[in-house]
Amino acid sequence: MAIYPIRTFPDPVLTMTASDVTEFGEALAKLADDMLETMYAAPGVGLAAPQIGISKRFFVADVGQGPFVMANPVIVEETGSWKFEEGCLSVPDRYWIIKRRDHVRATGLDIEGNPVSYEGDELLGRVIQHEIDHLNGTLLLSRLGIRTRSQALKELREDLPGVRRTM
Ligand code: ZN
Repeated sequence: MAIYPIRTFPDPVLTMTASDVTEFGEALAKLADDMLETMYAAPGVGLAAPQIGISKRFFVADVGQGPFVMANPVIVEETGSWKFEEGCLSVPDRYWIIKRRDHVRATGLDIEGNPVSYEGDELLGRVIQHEIDHLNGTLLLSRLGIRTRSQALKELREDLPGVRRTM
């Protein structure tokens, strides 16, 4: 197992649309193990492949009910709405209240390429939506209202090393 460095804003891989996973089996199983280890070490409850620089439609998650992985996930049902304070390992140490669907069901493939389906409310539903956003190159910053987002982007730019003294 190996822990990957986690890519952070504004790394361009985080805003790319990831491509479908087309190869299943041993290499994907190893990637899943490494991503879970990286996620638990962070610590986080979900991690998408683009966050470690791999622009593939794959994520791992564990909201306390055990780990699961999905390749090529698609949301097929979504209901309700739920506001919750949410963070992202790629935008470290920042949290915002974000409104998302309360309940979702997603279908996709497991590491062997077999069909799987996961559904959940609240945190489980939210992590599925958050990770699928990553696969579409969407960071939680894009889910903020315009005023909160411009303030957040201003703060993040000021935090970037060297920005303040680069003329
Ligand atoms: Zn994230």
